Amino acid sequence: MDIWKMIQEVEDPEQRAILWKMYRGELMICKSCEETLIPRGLSQVCDSCKEASVERRRKRSREYYQRPEVKAQRREYYREYQQRPEARALKRERERKYRQRPEAKAWRREYKQRPEVKARRREYQREYMREYTQRPEVKARRREYQREYRQRKKAQEEE
Ligand SMILES: [Zn+2]
Repeated sequence: MDIWKMIQEVEDPEQRAILWKMYRGELMICKSCEETLIPRGLSQVCDSCKEASVERRRKRSREYYQRPEVKAQRREYYREYQQRPEARALKRERERKYRQRPEAKAWRREYKQRPEVKARRREYQREYMREYTQRPEVKARRREYQREYRQRKKAQEEE
């Protein structure tokens, strides 16, 4: 584009002023859209083209991470990472800190008071006691205790 020639042909004063600025190198056309005039400086593209290119990059990156194989790879990496001793130690430490927070403590207190949780705990304890009393060693201990008790009583009656 021959700017000098255009300056001769254009009659609109505003357009002429712009062409002059381009001629002197103060203004340039955006290299990307080739429409917007921008002051000559560090950037060769206009703001909206810059934004569009950032948005395009973001979109590409979003699309990349949505790919099934990339997702699977990341899941696999995360799973492996979690198995590492240092990651496990970090997790334990995080959980410990979390449990110590007042809101976590309050939540636990509130949780324990819920009727369904209380009922579940009672049921669990009942179940445990049932199982415990059926253990052979516990049964044997009980039989032994009863036998001793009977003997003591008999001895007392004979005195
Ligand atoms: Zn542009």
